[in-house]
Amino acid sequence: MKKSDRELGMGSDISRRDFIHDAGLTALGLSLPISGVAAAGSGTSDADYPPTRTGLRGSHPGAFEVAHTLRDGGAFPAGRKLNEDYDLVVVGAGISGLAAAHYYRKRFGKDARILLLENHDDFGGHAKRNEFHQSGQMRLSMGGTHNLEHWLFSDTVKSLMAELGVDVNELQRKREFAYGRNGEKGPALWFDEQTYGENKLITNCSLGDGANQDMDALIDEFPLGEVARSQLKHFYAMRTNVLKGKSDEQAQAYLKSISYPDFLRQHAGLGEEALQLFDSMELGGWGVDARALSASEGLSAGMPGLHLLGNDSPGKESDYPVAMFPDGNASLARLQVHSLIPNVAPGTNAGNVALAKFDYSALDRPDAAVRLRLNSTVINASNTGSGVTVSYINQGQSYQITSRHCVMACYHVVIPHLCPDLPKEQKTALKYQVKRPLLLTSVLVKSSKAMDKLGITGARCPGRMHDDVYLFKGINTAGYRHDFADDGPVPLVFWGAISPPKDVVHVKDQYRASRTKMLALRFEDYEREVRTVLDGMLGPAGFDVKRDVLAITVNRWPHGYSHDYLDLWNPHWPEGEAPHQIASRPYANITMANSDAGANAYTHVAIDEAFRAVNELP
Ligand SMILES: Cc1cc2nc3c(=O)[nH]c(=O)nc-3n(C[C@H](O)[C@H](O)[C@H](O)COP(=O)(O)OP(=O)(O)OC[C@H]3O[C@@H](n4cnc5c(N)ncnc54)[C@H](O)[C@@H]3O)c2cc1C
Repeated sequence: MKKSDRELGMGSDISRRDFIHDAGLTALGLSLPISGVAAAGSGTSDADYPPTRTGLRGSHPGAFEVAHTLRDGGAFPAGRKLNEDYDLVVVGAGISGLAAAHYYRKRFGKDARILLLENHDDFGGHAKRNEFHQSGQMRLSMGGTHNLEHWLFSDTVKSLMAELGVDVNELQRKREFAYGRNGEKGPALWFDEQTYGENKLITNCSLGDGANQDMDALIDEFPLGEVARSQLKHFYAMRTNVLKGKSDEQAQAYLKSISYPDFLRQHAGLGEEALQLFDSMELGGWGVDARALSASEGLSAGMPGLHLLGNDSPGKESDYPVAMFPDGNASLARLQVHSLIPNVAPGTNAGNVALAKFDYSALDRPDAAVRLRLNSTVINASNTGSGVTVSYINQGQSYQITSRHCVMACYHVVIPHLCPDLPKEQKTALKYQVKRPLLLTSVLVKSSKAMDKLGITGARCPGRMHDDVYLFKGINTAGYRHDFADDGPVPLVFWGAISPPKDVVHVKDQYRASRTKMLALRFEDYEREVRTVLDGMLGPAGFDVKRDVLAITVNRWPHGYSHDYLDLWNPHWPEGEAPHQIASRPYANITMANSDAGANAYTHVAIDEAFRAVNELP
């Protein structure tokens, strides 16, 4: 039965915005001791410290309105000319912008004067740190990018990691965290009452791991109609090659031309109720509904069905061998910032960065070679012959500065509004980059006892807004420790994206529709959602949703993953003529970075593209 807001604890005194948990303890100096790392001297109070802010984060209120005004044809008054002249201005202080500053110093010398302008109130872009303080302990969670897919690293990225002291092998080795799949009772699937008529947790169950499970027995437990259950049983039991007679090339071409759900419809006879289970399975991984993926993309991402192609088993969910910091790639961004502006956190290194408290007042000091200015949205960047003039808005005021060079490390879709004189072809190509919205909500709860009792560390929730939920602990690196055995406060990560309405067809319209939904939801809507899931899933194991939810940080990313090309939606372009390649062409003293420039939503791509952009500067 649907619970009232009161029953869900919606009125409870948890932080909604700009609240420091356990403020009393912090004031008494009882928060985690930070040895050997700059803990004091911050010009910001704890309540102002961006990583501890809760409520609506990610693309937080105040960060995007200026850019949306430009998008909608609005204009701003000419900026007040500041007496500031730089060698380089970087637009966007995400991983790519920070890397651009690094490579600029390598190419043009350490004395180069650099300004990074960032529209958010924190640096890192998608590399966002969620920091909670509770019962005298600091608990970290991730607000965006977190996996380091090190096996894909170029030599450029490997060198940067080495310079920052990042040992990806150690980060991988010391990661016990396994995306909620490593509980005593293995991975779990949670069916919710609103969608399926009853709340039901099924343990030792993964839709993508038909190889190691008695699927018949598990499917008998699914609260689905009899027809859907028998279709699913038939599907998982099939051992055949539905593409027999086709050459490898023909089979590949076919799998790239049919959507994943259509493939299962046609070759396994699955109906809509059965297929619904797989709809949101890749909302986090790919950032899209299953219907946007080709069969080839779905199967290679680990969705079940390989056994329809002559393989022995339906699929095997593998451990993704990534390296990870305790706050995701925010630690990487922090190491980058520290290397550019050492005074933000003297003594910081890769071995203690997770504990370092950054002095945000040191980010933008006139005497420093590198300055980072937050809450500053660039509205124009124009070539002037010998350099670039850049205008930006900060606190409602518009300002103008000059520079010899400029690297655009922001989303590509915004660049045509900032550089209206770009060639038409390049503007069209930049606008091709419609990013995929993503949602990552960190919820600090009193303990993991309820999950421990159920024998799980997370569950997939096919009927809910966030497709996955998992405990975020077991990453003991960068000075931080939070063991699985610890039964104190712990962040739960809710992960996924907001499904677009089913009647929206084209994939870019799906992203836009999902973005509109995401921005229209209020904090209370997200809060109600996570409380409903926690109550339904963990309530029977003793979780009291009114008592046990301590803080909620919603990291919404309306402009999330870069638009990497999909089989069903994007043609193959000749080398050099793909939209991202046209979009990334240098424009006199301005060059283009960001992972959008690689049409590939990876942290290491953001770095590679920064390297290229700096080396293309005249
Ligand atoms: C939730 C989420 C999870 C992810 N997980 C992973 C992962 O696990 N592994 C992985 O490799 N990748 C992941 N990614 C992809 C991620 O996009 C990249 O890894 C990388 O962080 C992109 O960095 P970037 O600097 O290119 O872009 P961004 O991080 O987007 O940085 C660009 C910055 O420019 C700012 N900006 C935009 N316009 C302006 C303007 N006009 N003025 C000033 N500033 C502006 C933006 O606000 C932003 O802060 C994830 C992304 C999201 C959203």
